Amino acid sequence: MAEVLVYVDHVDGAVRKPTLELLTLARRIGEPVAVALGNGAEATAATLGEHGAVRVLTADAPEFADYLVVPKVDALQAAVEAVSPAAVLVPSSAEGKEIAARLAVRIGSGIITDAVDLEASDEGPVATQSVFAASFTTKSRVSKGTPVITVKPNSAAVEAAPAAGAVEQLAVSFSEKATGTKVTARTARESTGRPELTEAAIVVSGGRGVNGAENFAIIEALADSLGAAVGASRAAVDAGWYPHSNQVGQTGKSVSPQLYIASGISGAIQHRAGMQTSKTIVAINKDAEAPIFDLVDYGVVGDLFEVVPQLTEEIKTR
Ligand code: FAD
Repeated sequence: MAEVLVYVDHVDGAVRKPTLELLTLARRIGEPVAVALGNGAEATAATLGEHGAVRVLTADAPEFADYLVVPKVDALQAAVEAVSPAAVLVPSSAEGKEIAARLAVRIGSGIITDAVDLEASDEGPVATQSVFAASFTTKSRVSKGTPVITVKPNSAAVEAAPAAGAVEQLAVSFSEKATGTKVTARTARESTGRPELTEAAIVVSGGRGVNGAENFAIIEALADSLGAAVGASRAAVDAGWYPHSNQVGQTGKSVSPQLYIASGISGAIQHRAGMQTSKTIVAINKDAEAPIFDLVDYGVVGDLFEVVPQLTEEIKTR
């Protein structure tokens, strides 16, 4: 069976969930071979093996330390040359997309970004994408070189599948460009303790109907009762009620959680573009004619200031 390279997103050896989802999808199209780089790379092997990685190619070097992408591209290129895989899968994070794009140029391959599903075919892996503000679903296949595919978080349920997870050292020779950029300062953002928006299994979002920065506390309370991330519409962000880093939509982040709860959001096309692939959508809106109700699985017509706190209390009792 052909091998499929999976780029491992980890922090000091702790593997992030989107990588485990990639391993699950990779098994549909071949045998997963993980590529883990930087500090803690070898420590990822146990988790990756539990989730189907037959081999874990690791490399650690000072070049990987500063979150720069070019050294990682150098390493993935070395892995492609060593393995000749059927495809390379990379998580669709901001960093992942840059790595994937640079890799595709390096190895002269086609690329598919933001896939939400993968299947095997005789001609190679077929990726499903949601396009044109989620108005269409397309299936595409790379017709040139080794397919490089980025996959959106929450595209697959993680499935364990014990495999060898044998650690092998990957020899990497760094290109001149790898040392061309230096990180000069780093400022850590204060942690909210909530999951990262694009990776969260549940997202609770607020829009103009929330009517003020201070009122986002009720959205946050519902999110915290569910262990969810908080999102916001552009109207709420533009009003200065919530940070732009939490904006969901065409000019914000694209999310695909198991559950998306929209409160006081009308459902404009640009908002839908960032959340329409969510598995289950719930909306709370006082206007029964709001367009968001066209795409929901469950809709509550009501005042969010009554409905959201009641929902939070109910969830807390469970
Ligand atoms: P509104 O459309 O004003 O809707 C507010 C809703 O809240 C209404 O449906 C109302 O009935 C309801 N409501 C009010 N009070 C209550 C209450 N007490 N209880 C319950 N419901 C209540 N938008 C995004 O979100 N993300 C993007 O990335 C984005 N990108 C854009 C890019 C471009 C190029 C353009 C032109 C627009 C973009 N927009 C984006 C803006 C988008 O068109 C909408 O203007 C925006 O999504 C509206 O936000 P909203 O639903 O919060 O506000």
